[in-house]
Amino acid sequence: MSYDDNNIFAKILRGEMPAHKVFEDNETLAFLDIMPRSKGHILVIPKKPAINMMDIDPDSLCVLIRCVHRLAPLVRKAMGADGFVVQQFNEAAAGQMVFHIHFHIVPRYIGVPLKHAASEMEQDDILSANAELIRQEIGNQLG
Ligand code: AMP
Repeated sequence: MSYDDNNIFAKILRGEMPAHKVFEDNETLAFLDIMPRSKGHILVIPKKPAINMMDIDPDSLCVLIRCVHRLAPLVRKAMGADGFVVQQFNEAAAGQMVFHIHFHIVPRYIGVPLKHAASEMEQDDILSANAELIRQEIGNQLG
């Protein structure tokens, strides 16, 4: 399989699709998942095209996971979560739906079960409010 320039995250990177962005630097973009498994679920993607773990070069993967490592505790704090899950799927058989590599940061709340992946579209105003909370926390810590 070769990288498809028309995948949804490539369109977000080119500004052709909207996203609730929470963090961006030269190499990385983070934005809210529109069908969150929990409140504050974000996705962290590299700007450089790569399909998944089998396609990305090791240095780019290091940059990406460094960003995940930096953002995950800030997302947890911003959302008042009790913990978080980091997920990354490779190939459709493993649950990969978008073929531009991404890490999920999924906040967890005691007593609140996870929703199924991509099961329910969140309301835009709720996504906006959560993105603002996360941006504020990232701004506090990284800005
Ligand atoms: P994966 O199974 O790891 O490929 O997950 C892809 C994720 O992308 C799912 O959690 C979807 O809810 C999410 N998603 C799909 N389209 C968009 C979009 N336009 N903006 C933000 N998240 C999206």
